[in-house]
Amino acid sequence: MKWGIYMRTYDLIEKKRDKEVLSKDEIEYMVREYTNGNIPDYQMSAFLMAVYLNGMNEEEILNLTLAMADSGERLELGMIDGVKVDKHSTGGVGDKTTLIVAPIVAACGIPVAKMSGRGLGHTGGTIDKLESIPGYRTTIPTNKFIDDVNRIKIAIVGQTVNLAPADKKIYALRDVTATVESIPLISSSIMSKKLASGADAIVLDVKTGSGAFMKNENDAVALANEMVKIGHGAGKNTIAVVTDMNEPLGNAVGNALEVIEAIETLKGNGPDDLTEISVELAGHMIVAAGESKDIESARQLAKEMINSGKALDKFRELLKAQGGNINVIEDYTLFPQADIIHEVKAEKSGYISRICTSDVGVTSLILGGGRETKESVIDLSVGIILKKKIGDKVNKGDIIALLYANDKNKVKEAEEKLLSAYDFSDKKPEEIKLIKRIIE
Ligand code: URA
Repeated sequence: MKWGIYMRTYDLIEKKRDKEVLSKDEIEYMVREYTNGNIPDYQMSAFLMAVYLNGMNEEEILNLTLAMADSGERLELGMIDGVKVDKHSTGGVGDKTTLIVAPIVAACGIPVAKMSGRGLGHTGGTIDKLESIPGYRTTIPTNKFIDDVNRIKIAIVGQTVNLAPADKKIYALRDVTATVESIPLISSSIMSKKLASGADAIVLDVKTGSGAFMKNENDAVALANEMVKIGHGAGKNTIAVVTDMNEPLGNAVGNALEVIEAIETLKGNGPDDLTEISVELAGHMIVAAGESKDIESARQLAKEMINSGKALDKFRELLKAQGGNINVIEDYTLFPQADIIHEVKAEKSGYISRICTSDVGVTSLILGGGRETKESVIDLSVGIILKKKIGDKVNKGDIIALLYANDKNKVKEAEEKLLSAYDFSDKKPEEIKLIKRIIE
């Protein structure tokens, strides 16, 4: 039996190595047998490298995605009334849009049944952010999750069911075999989890720039195209918005600090970039749910939800349903507080021409705001408030950021890292276009 499996695995590696096309059965075999422990890591590594080097055609990518989506449980959302629209970001720094977009969309009466992730490396995750709200439970029973969405149209929880375990295992292997940056592998990885999450429609926020996976826009567009094709192939209405990640989104980076900024945005006082992207994503979700006919009226509706206070009310309902202290909305001192607030001053005069966004994420990591490994315990109170961003003119000695810290020994290293992220020029740089492409 083992020998048979070995032979077949060898043949499939060879086939991909020789640029041949794999059948549905062959792809399902690779995914199933690897997940079950019958294909060793060294063979899967060779297979993944062959995919990395030689790619896959659309049918192969869809089959790979579906095989991974079916490797575990699928979340059954059939008991929730209405069109369920999910949102996914490919990850960035300061990206707290879910906390804004989900209440906006739910306030329009559209069910938002959201399973979110934790941060890893320099990028943040919604679940860690929500845990900075005292009492908020990110794990609730599935029946309460469904009931809450039916009752108040919104629930945001961590992953409680075993979604796409094949992806989890394959991703861990890719991470150590230099096979992450492959469009077939990234698109199938993300979409397998989205398909297993059970939504009817999916809005993808594909980030591009110095804080994103896809540093250049063409790659981000190619990834977005591939994910949209997978979504359509699986019968789901899927839209991708390619957005800028050449500087952190908004001004706050760090868990509690980002929740405060999200609340300010729901109050209508958010930074322009964060508000614009949130309204855009919410708009596409509203159109996908059939609540507006076109994106322009959907954007207006999203803005109305902010201006009328309905989105903030929805956020309050969410906190209440999941055990969070609703008083945080008015009293930010109820969030975990950092002991030290350290001013970071510009070392040069000029226009800020570039911010290495991943380095800002690493600064937060140094302060204790992110995870080096899955097991790391994070400090929810620490982070960075950017006082200046790309295009701003500064004089040497001006405060460009505040570091929120608890360990004074980490402040110097964090400050050096943050300062190294900034470049200055004599000329004002061109304005960054936030929303780069929409792929439907
Ligand atoms: N996020 C994922 O979930 N998978 C990838 O492969 C890359 C980013």
